[in-house]
Amino acid sequence: MPATAFEYHAPSTIQEAVSLLSQYGGEAKILAGGHSLLPIMNLRLAQPKALIDIGRISGLSGIREENGTIVIGAMTTHYMIESSDLLKDKVPILPETATVIGDVQVRNRGTIGGSIAHADPAGDFPAVAIALDMQLNAVGPQGERSIKAREFFVDILTTALQPDEILTEIRVPAFAPHTGSAYAKMANPASGYAIVGAAAVVTVDGNGVCRKASVGLNGITGKPVAAVSVEQALVGQRLNDQTIQEAAAKAADGLEALGDIFASAAYRTHLARVYTKRALTRASGRV
Ligand SMILES: Cc1cc2nc3c(=O)[nH]c(=O)nc-3n(C[C@H](O)[C@H](O)[C@H](O)COP(=O)(O)OP(=O)(O)OC[C@H]3O[C@@H](n4cnc5c(N)ncnc54)[C@H](O)[C@@H]3O)c2cc1C
Repeated sequence: MPATAFEYHAPSTIQEAVSLLSQYGGEAKILAGGHSLLPIMNLRLAQPKALIDIGRISGLSGIREENGTIVIGAMTTHYMIESSDLLKDKVPILPETATVIGDVQVRNRGTIGGSIAHADPAGDFPAVAIALDMQLNAVGPQGERSIKAREFFVDILTTALQPDEILTEIRVPAFAPHTGSAYAKMANPASGYAIVGAAAVVTVDGNGVCRKASVGLNGITGKPVAAVSVEQALVGQRLNDQTIQEAAAKAADGLEALGDIFASAAYRTHLARVYTKRALTRASGRV
C-alpha cells in the first residue's frame, strides 16, 4: 500500500526546520534515514501532512571528541558508528551495537538520532542510550535543551521530545579507565530487531571492585528501561560468575513484560535475565 499524499520540505538550517514543524502544528514529521518512518507510512500507521527532510542541514552528522566527551550528530548513520575508530577506542559498545542492526542497507541509511527519536521498544540504540547515560540535545522554538536518556523514553514510540523539537546531538562521556561494555540481544531472525536486548557498562576500581554499573534493557516493556536492581546489586561487588548471576536474576524485577507473536511475557522475562547475564559477563571480561 502506498503512503497517503504528503508535502515535502528540505530545509537547509535547523531554525527553518523547527519553524516548519511549528507551522504544521504537530502534523509534520522529521525525515532522517526513513527506515522506520517510511514503512509505517506505507502501512498507513502514520499519515503526516508533511515530511521535513533534515538530510541537507549541515553539521547534523559526524562524530567528534570534545574535552573527553564524545559528540555524535543525530544524522550519523549506523554504518558511520560501526566503522568509527574513535568510537571503537572510546565508547566501543556503540560500534558493537551498530554492527547488529538490520542489514547493510538499513545501516547505510538509518541514523542514531532516528533510532532514538523513534523509540521502538525493539530498537537497539535506545537500550544503549540508557546504559551510557546519554545526554540528548534537542532544538525547538524555545531554543536548545538537554534530556537525559533515562528521562527521554516515555512509552512505546513516545519520547520526551515535543512535536516541534528536533534531536540534534548525542553526548556520551568517553569511558573511564577499567571500564568494559557489551550489548547482547536475541534478534528476530527476519529483521534483526531485538526480541530482548541488554546493554551493560561496568567500571571497576584498582582492586577489581565494581564502582559503577549501568544496564539498559529493550524489548521487555513498551519502552527501554534501566535495570536499576541489577545495577545496585553489582556496585561494591567483585565481578565474577556468582555476583553477575545473582544480579542478573533481578533483571525483570518490577517490570511487566509484554507478550506478542514473537515471545510470551514469561519467555521475555526469562530472556531479560539470560541476556543481562551475557552482557554483564562480556562487559566484565573486557574491563
Ligand atoms: C528491514 C529493517 C530492519 C531493521 N532492523 C533493525 C534492528 O535490528 N535494530 C534496530 O535498532 N533497528 C532496526 N531497524 C530500524 C532502523 O535502525 C532505523 O533506521 C531507525 O530505527 C530509524 O532511523 P532513521 O534514521 O531511519 O529514522 P526515520 O525513519 O527517518 O525516522 C524515525 C522516526 O524518528 C523521527 N526522527 C528521526 N530523526 C529525528 C530527529 N533528529 N529529531 C526528531 N525526530 C526524529 C521521525 O520523524 C520518525 O518519527 C530496521 C529497519 C528495517 C527497515
